[in-house]
Amino acid sequence: MGTIELKNVTKSFGPVAVIKGVSLTAEEGEFVVFVGPSGCGKSTLLRLIAGLEETSGGSIHIDGKDVTELDPYHRGLSMVFQSYALYPHMTVYGNIAFALKTAGIAKLEIDRKVRAAAETLKLTPYLDRKPKDLSGGQRQRVAIGRAIVRQPKGFLFDEPLSNLDAALRTQTRIEIANLHKELGATMVYVTHDQIEAMTLADKIVVLNDGEVMQIGSPKELYNAPKNTFVAQFIGSPK
Ligand code: ADP
Ligand code: MG
Repeated sequence: MGTIELKNVTKSFGPVAVIKGVSLTAEEGEFVVFVGPSGCGKSTLLRLIAGLEETSGGSIHIDGKDVTELDPYHRGLSMVFQSYALYPHMTVYGNIAFALKTAGIAKLEIDRKVRAAAETLKLTPYLDRKPKDLSGGQRQRVAIGRAIVRQPKGFLFDEPLSNLDAALRTQTRIEIANLHKELGATMVYVTHDQIEAMTLADKIVVLNDGEVMQIGSPKELYNAPKNTFVAQFIGSPK
């Protein structure tokens, strides 16, 4: 469960082509990182996979099924945004439980899932707090908790560390890597930070100006960059 495949996906906003024919596969359980400079189309590509934007051309497949026309909810992926997007008036518990409540799941089952996610994310002591009384790192973990309880086929992360200070960024990066190990879920992760990409990814997709420059493991990109852009972006061997 959780194979995501893009076939020649394009996206234009008005006359402006932003995604110019992207094909790639995230295999089941793989940690795939989209990396590239600001404005190259990373967030747009992730939103297309989530179903938050309509494609202009091409197709998107999840577990072999064409989901190009499917709404976000039925794609079965969970997205974690850079801005957290937590409900300020709800507690941590309420925020994590929210999607389950709207899905009509029994209270006892919701409670079990919320507490399990809180335990995984070290949020148990904070379940009664409001987002404003949490640190940036804790808020980001709540956002991840909300994604986990839905037991998605895959997780989509858009620069989840960018609002954190340097120390927390490293810590949260390690937590996300551990989460991936623990859940074994497919993860697609967007960043403009090469270090993040190199340390987290099974597979890196280097994007520039709406196009794929290269796809490969961190080692492959480092040892055999296909062009000057990749070499300069990833950092060529010394
Ligand atoms: P990244 O996440 O890599 O920084 P984005 O996917 O946010 O890049 O944006 C890629 C390009 O698409 C940018 O030039 C941006 O201005 C443009 N863009 C993104 N969303 C919209 C939109 N809703 N309408 C018009 N242009 C957009
Ligand atoms: Mg972005």
